[in-house]
Amino acid sequence: MHAGAQVRHGQADETAFYRREIHSRVVNFHKVTWLLALMVACALGLMLLAMPIGYGLLPPAWLEPAGIATGLAGAFLLLSAAYLKRRVDVDMTRLMGDFKIAHARQDTDALTGAFVRNRFLGDLSEAILRRRSVGGEVALVVFDVDHFKQINDGFGHPVGDAVLQFCVRAALKTFHGATVGRMGGDEFALFVEHDSPITASYLDRTCNEFLASLREGFHISHRRQSVSASIGIAIAPVDAARADMLFGHADIALYESKRAGRATWRFFRPEILADKRHERFVERELRAAILLHEIKVLYQPIVDCDGNLVSLEALTRWQHSSRGSINPAEFIPVAERSNLIHDLGLAVLRQVCIDMAELPDVTVNVNVSARQLQLTHFQEDYLAIAAKAGVHPSRIVLEITESSMLEASGSLNKRIEGLRQAGFRIALDDFGMGYSEFNQLRTLPFDIIKIDKSYIQSLGSDEVTDIFVSAVVAVATHLDRAVVAEGVETDADIVKARLAGCGLFQGFLFDKPLTVEGLKGKYIVSPDYAERKPRLTA
Ligand SMILES: [Mg+2]
Repeated sequence: MHAGAQVRHGQADETAFYRREIHSRVVNFHKVTWLLALMVACALGLMLLAMPIGYGLLPPAWLEPAGIATGLAGAFLLLSAAYLKRRVDVDMTRLMGDFKIAHARQDTDALTGAFVRNRFLGDLSEAILRRRSVGGEVALVVFDVDHFKQINDGFGHPVGDAVLQFCVRAALKTFHGATVGRMGGDEFALFVEHDSPITASYLDRTCNEFLASLREGFHISHRRQSVSASIGIAIAPVDAARADMLFGHADIALYESKRAGRATWRFFRPEILADKRHERFVERELRAAILLHEIKVLYQPIVDCDGNLVSLEALTRWQHSSRGSINPAEFIPVAERSNLIHDLGLAVLRQVCIDMAELPDVTVNVNVSARQLQLTHFQEDYLAIAAKAGVHPSRIVLEITESSMLEASGSLNKRIEGLRQAGFRIALDDFGMGYSEFNQLRTLPFDIIKIDKSYIQSLGSDEVTDIFVSAVVAVATHLDRAVVAEGVETDADIVKARLAGCGLFQGFLFDKPLTVEGLKGKYIVSPDYAERKPRLTA
């Protein structure tokens, strides 16, 4: 990336040099033109002046040589003028040629020879306009190299570069007459124009051939490097009549093909537009937000019967640079559906570990998604962050939703048990929403149970709820697990939750999620926390 930027910068310098040079040559050309005109005028004047002077002053015998000398001087001046003009013309032609080459180089990617983004989009716009007036269609095909990062990391950047070059060669070979552009990193796009409607069967066949040639791969360092790509396709003017919109649609189709397992292609369908375009946007922005540290963490207290602090739940907040605060309900599901949820989880844990030094000495709960638990490297990643920050895992409670626990297979249960053995505590989050049966409670590996706010808020008004909560508390107490009542918002809520047997509480009645600064000096750590600790960490 950096090298690319340098190349681009060098090309810009080169073009600027030619621009300056041409400007100074043009100025010189004007000077030379004036000089030529002056020389021609001098030659003519010389001849005109010489004649009467010669006739009047010179002896007849000198007239002839003087005439010849004047003629020769005039001819010399004329020839010099013609020669100068020719020199300037040749010079200008050569310079303009060099300038065109330099300009073309600025429009193409130095590594792959594909057009750079702006040039590609400009050409795509022109093609769409052209087809609008003469008829026919433009198919836009965007593709990403699958697992490019792994290729770069595993085999080194020279192989990564060779892969990108190979992809462009393969694309040009398969899609006849295509214009190819590099959109950045390992993202490419190409378009083909046809006089008649472009059929799905043509695109199916060509994409198939393209993927086959990528699979076939190429030779590098005495071995064969196979490549795969995910492809998204949109057609103008059917799917969109503007280059940027068409590109957006092809991008959505590309996303679909990645979701379908990569190494395949998908056509844009209008049905996926409504939700997918937004989702894709949020996903991209979220990815950037994680990198730019726009993700903030707030802490909501969990207190005991006396209002003393027992634990803190870390909650994710996204402060977007231009859109302001974005609701977790908007971005968490998007992160869940993409592969970003783990990156987001790691970013939150990192921040929590940093904040630990300034937080009260209680456990901090972090929310973990079911998708993250399926990752084989989950425990390793979380332990590495805690170890790097010098935080003992016992200070971290992993909140896992009941529904993801219920989906848990035997191996996942083992993984959760492994996390407990590594020192992490496990909280069963939003309990009651997953419709688990009580006997399952005995087999699920957890230390703390958090009863969902919908139950807490309808305590006392719904008999089934009352029985349910009391039964959960009874089972948890029997198993020596702590019980947290979530969503405690009124004095009546806390009274009823206490009556049902809950010992710990979380909700707006105590506090909304607070910053590290906001927490300072606000709470007393539960005095029997040390006593409670074994219960929390049973
Ligand atoms: Mg939670």
